[in-house]
Amino acid sequence: MTLIDYVQTLSDNPYFGAGFGLFGLGAGAALLRKGMQAGMIFFRRHYMITLEVPCRDKSYQWLLQWITHKGAKETQHLSVETSFEQKETGHIKTRYDFIPSIGTHFIRYKGNWIRVERTREQQSLDIQMGIPFETVQLTAFGRDKTIYFNILEEARQMALKEYEGKTIMYTAMGSEWRQFGHPRKRRPLDSVILDTDIAERILNDCREFIENPSWYSDRGIPYRRGYLLYGPPGCGKSSFITALAGELERGICVLNLSERGLTDDRLNHLLAVAPQQTIILLEDIDAAFVSREESKEMKSAYDGLNRVTFSGLLNCLDGVASTEARILFMTTNYLERLDPALVRPGRVDVKEYIGWCSARQVEQMFLRFYRNIDNKSNELAKEFTESVVSQKRNVSPAQIQGFFMFHKNNPADVLKNVSHIWDVT
Ligand code: ADP
Repeated sequence: MTLIDYVQTLSDNPYFGAGFGLFGLGAGAALLRKGMQAGMIFFRRHYMITLEVPCRDKSYQWLLQWITHKGAKETQHLSVETSFEQKETGHIKTRYDFIPSIGTHFIRYKGNWIRVERTREQQSLDIQMGIPFETVQLTAFGRDKTIYFNILEEARQMALKEYEGKTIMYTAMGSEWRQFGHPRKRRPLDSVILDTDIAERILNDCREFIENPSWYSDRGIPYRRGYLLYGPPGCGKSSFITALAGELERGICVLNLSERGLTDDRLNHLLAVAPQQTIILLEDIDAAFVSREESKEMKSAYDGLNRVTFSGLLNCLDGVASTEARILFMTTNYLERLDPALVRPGRVDVKEYIGWCSARQVEQMFLRFYRNIDNKSNELAKEFTESVVSQKRNVSPAQIQGFFMFHKNNPADVLKNVSHIWDVT
């Protein structure tokens, strides 16, 4: 039997014929599927554009909010971000922000359908932030990338609008800065009552610094300025810096150097990556170290604590440089505890004492607190001030404010109880 005869016999066999047909069908379907996949890949590659935004990117949160705003809110699949907002009155309000849940959503933007896919990796954590790694991927028809540029810009503008007239606080989380709570309403600078001219002096100094980058670049001097506010607690150091940031339309990055796990490297990194348009605030700078002499003795103790070393801090301060104006504030209650190397010019350019209340401050605080309550407040303010001064005791603005809170609506009462100011701790 020749080979042709053999094949002929096989194809005449009905069982084999059916099997062969099925095989042919399966192969055809597989081919078709492959072809469609290749076609799809070709189509996606040439006629669709995608944008991937990982959660580490600055635009990530803005984009999620924008997507929700744009229409994904109509989707039934949302996830919630709960946060607390503290009002100036101390009242705490809970706020729920809905953002698109993990999965696929569709939105329409300027006549285009956009597929939004939010994915979360179950297995991998973003090591720096300690949260699951997430991405949002946008896919649209066409080849025009400007659509994504426009979207990101719109998302940014929308976020900025929410921040208008507000101060954003950042705290360090791992080696990144994270927004702390919601943006707060700006604190007016004149709500912090300091002794004559101090506020004005610092504000003018900051403004002059911000407006003159070329003075620094011409001389090859790093474009940064360091301020140290020192004085007893409760006299307005932190409040003033917050109000100043608002006035300069900047956010604040607050860092406590005595935080555990904050090493020299981490501090260096944090200072280098601080968000733009912010003031860096290192609070209670004395608490982090003992002076250099003592630190030599305590070196072994430091070794185990995983904390910032004094020389590490100096290096970090000297290294803070950026093309934009970098303003760094430090506060301490005990100037005398600071090593002279820390407060030399270049590290600290402006030093200001924010001290106990002067008579003028006492009077202004009274007027500010009771200005709308009593039309005799001018006389009462004078009387109150004399009474406080006659006690010949140091008093902080925080104590006075606390005392006024006990007599919110009755300024005449405060006069009867002046000695109780010092009961406020
Ligand atoms: P410090 O940083 O000097 O310890 P804070 O700024 O934290 O002081 O002040 C504590 C509280 O006292 C804040 O609620 C603030 O409103 C009030 N306070 C302190 N100083 C002043 C001031 N000079 N003017 C108005 N309020 C003040």
